[in-house]
Amino acid sequence: MTIYHVAVDSTDSATLGMCTTYLGAVLLDRLSELPMELLSPPELVRLNPNVPWKTRGNGAFCLRYEGEEGLLDEILFIAENVIWDLSVFEDPQTNPGLVILKGQVPTSFRDIYHRALHEILDLDAVKEVGNSANAFMKGWKNERGLIGALAAVGADLSLHTYEAMLYRPAAVKDRKRQVDAKTLREASKRYPSTFFNVDAAGNPVCIPHSPCPVILGIRGIDPSDTLEASRMVKADGIERWVLWKTNQHTDAHIEYVKDLTSLRPFSSISTEVTISSPPVYREGGHLFFDVIDPQGNTATCAAYEPTKGFRKNLTALAPGDKLRVWGSVRSEDVPGITINLEKVEVRELAILKTLSNPRCPKCGGPTESMGRDQGLRCKRCGFRGAGMEPVENIMEREVKPGLIEPPPDAWRHLFRPSCLPANKEREYAGSWWGSGAP
Ligand code: ATP
Repeated sequence: MTIYHVAVDSTDSATLGMCTTYLGAVLLDRLSELPMELLSPPELVRLNPNVPWKTRGNGAFCLRYEGEEGLLDEILFIAENVIWDLSVFEDPQTNPGLVILKGQVPTSFRDIYHRALHEILDLDAVKEVGNSANAFMKGWKNERGLIGALAAVGADLSLHTYEAMLYRPAAVKDRKRQVDAKTLREASKRYPSTFFNVDAAGNPVCIPHSPCPVILGIRGIDPSDTLEASRMVKADGIERWVLWKTNQHTDAHIEYVKDLTSLRPFSSISTEVTISSPPVYREGGHLFFDVIDPQGNTATCAAYEPTKGFRKNLTALAPGDKLRVWGSVRSEDVPGITINLEKVEVRELAILKTLSNPRCPKCGGPTESMGRDQGLRCKRCGFRGAGMEPVENIMEREVKPGLIEPPPDAWRHLFRPSCLPANKEREYAGSWWGSGAP
């Protein structure tokens, strides 16, 4: 028996439709004709969210099979045909890549996966890794899809969640889907291990508005609950479905760095800092404040307008507050280092003080200054306190230690919300994909 890993990336278009995961759903169906079995769940792998040429969520997929020897040519034939049939070649951003690897995944592929989460990779360097492992690689147009595809083969999903995706035919391009929001709300209540279905007001956040074939995706930490929740949702025109295992919502893109000198453009980091300037709104409704690390290195933190209420919660922060920040580092063309915040943990609040005049010791009335170093006089009874001075008051802060996170509609695919429990393997014996409704 032989193990075959089949991975694809960069087949879709933000404007003209398709979704690489839909191509994965079709490929699962076509490859089921061959004498091989899925070895593990279909994997949806998100890579560096800061890649400038991504279509949407920088996603690729990998299907891992065990089957008879000598199937490579047939797998290849089917995969190439599906890619030819479904990819949106006319979009300049669509540059499909297909990688098929036989046998165990080498550590060099794992390295590419980890680097593809944090860095911008060079296509030739990635191809060299593929060649040295005798992987089959086929790239179309500028072949950039090979980077994501090879990284997907190397994916390590020891931290994972699941997403049950329901698809309509690729030819359907309506931006509006017929989904019964009431059943979605009910499903999300009945299966609390699912998340990111509806926002606090009960409005769906898991239904795309693009011309792609995804009707909706239910995300969860338990495979059975995730699929069951998707079954409860009434939606028109379901052609097929897949229950993906994925690195979504695991913070896999975050590198924990010791100080601000380790920030590289296009990476995503977490580090501890102290605020050095008060948060201010600038043009466009974006919020900015400066931070400093214990070595004296500085950076600017930004919470952009689409993060909505997240910005408002950050305005109560003040210089001296100690934070752990998570965010992506803006590209080199932005002057200085800017961290685009994804979440913030307030670790310690600065003690902020104000000065005020004490009340009159005789009548309790308000006091005022009699001039520099000359004490205070009571405004009501005229008492003169030559030695009296303004006193320090500790200000009540409108923010508490703890996590500050954006609302679900501002979450990125890899963002790990604090509501998720610790990761653990969960039993599931059902199917991972199928035709029609799940
Ligand atoms: P969707 O999520 O809808 O499938 P997408 O956002 O994944 O679309 P792609 O068309 O796949 O968009 O664009 C991402 C491109 O960037 C792919 O060609 C992929 O191979 C490449 N890529 C992914 N990660 C990196 C990286 N770290 N460095 C360089 N290129 C990368």
